[in-house]
Amino acid sequence: MALFVQKYGGTSVGTAECIEAVAEKVCGFRNKGHDVVVVVSAMSGETNRLIDLANSITEEPAPREMDVLVSTGEQVTIALLAMALQKRGCEARSYTGGQVSILTDSMHTKARIRKIDEQGMRDDLDAGRVIVVAGFQGVDENGNITTLGRGGSDTTAVALAAALKADECQIYTDVDGVYTTDPRVVDSARRLERITFEEMMEMASLGSKVLQIRAVEFAGKYNVPLRVLSSFQEGEGTLITLEENIAMEQPVVSGIAFNRDEAKVTISGVPDTPGSALRILKPVSDANIDVDMIVQNVGEDNRTAFTFTVHRNDFNRAKDVLQRVSDELGAREVSGDTKIAKVSIVGVGMRSHVGVATTMFEALSAEGINIQMISTSEIKISVVINEKYLELAVRALHSAFELEKPAVEETM
Ligand code: ADP
Ligand code: ASP
Ligand code: MG
Repeated sequence: MALFVQKYGGTSVGTAECIEAVAEKVCGFRNKGHDVVVVVSAMSGETNRLIDLANSITEEPAPREMDVLVSTGEQVTIALLAMALQKRGCEARSYTGGQVSILTDSMHTKARIRKIDEQGMRDDLDAGRVIVVAGFQGVDENGNITTLGRGGSDTTAVALAAALKADECQIYTDVDGVYTTDPRVVDSARRLERITFEEMMEMASLGSKVLQIRAVEFAGKYNVPLRVLSSFQEGEGTLITLEENIAMEQPVVSGIAFNRDEAKVTISGVPDTPGSALRILKPVSDANIDVDMIVQNVGEDNRTAFTFTVHRNDFNRAKDVLQRVSDELGAREVSGDTKIAKVSIVGVGMRSHVGVATTMFEALSAEGINIQMISTSEIKISVVINEKYLELAVRALHSAFELEKPAVEETM
């Protein structure tokens, strides 16, 4: 007998029929004697619909009210799933985030979980009930409803699994595991049996939305066994685990992530004096704009240029801030480009291999794709390219690193 925390994503609860199918699945686990805590997302498309509704009323909805609004999506699915379970004779109770005491900070729309009081859940489990919890939401210390950022139900599930010391946190979704890259973009993408927390964290932060980054972070920190599986077909899925648990020879590159959500801004003709980076980037960070990649070019005549990437939603604001800075510094020009994409190769195997960057650059150059920016860390290399070549780049890299071929099992 085990305790599983299972999360079912938007597509998995997208219709009444899907919710019934989830109930069947959960009953199956109960009938085998396992304890189950279920976390559900809103029905697919619902969160977007609610956000659009808000935007139809005001361009800048108050974050507190936004959270009151978008958290309703999950409240619908917990009630429906509890009903579907009860109909099958499976005792179940639904709870909102606040009701199961998921206490967060007060950063509306991107709150972080601070504390979970698991006693109430233990009592329900001891009484033989399935607990159905609304994902993505919590409350702050003043009782305000908060949400955890897009994709946040994954994090709810992992946090509950950590608090309850569950045997496994299972993320059921519309693909049957974590693939070498998004299987909707590359047909030959291959499901990975295992991936390390570290790699998964990079993949998530570099754009692979199969898991929310906070969920992976949390799972790594509390060593929660985490598995991604399909709601619609049987299978082992992908286990996210510690590096030492992977009995494979680590491939150089494990996966490819990409992101279309960024934009690039450049300020050129900046006087090349100590402190200029600070004078440019501080106002940007003061405006609460996150900067990703930064490149400073050596210019002529003691002038230099800075280029950096920001989220596309922040593009206009970032340009406005830079225009102000440019006037103050006497820089020459501010320009920008929203039609960019970031492609990254990720793998712990990169630590022990040289020449990975060369293979990457060769593959891109063979397709005539120009690299605009580069950034590297121990286990990843990211490049910014023109958005229109994104899919071509991902496919070219996937084949250059032979990701369609299964990894070699080590004979131990
Ligand atoms: P859910 O609604 O269940 O949370 P998401 O849409 O958030 O599902 O995540 C699943 C999707 O993630 C898949 O449909 C797939 O297109 C996408 N995805 C992106 N990168 C990967 C990857 N490397 N492996 C698997 N799926 C990926
Ligand atoms: N419903 C929320 C979203 O669409 C949270 C989630 O599904 O994980 O982002
Ligand atoms: Mg998701």
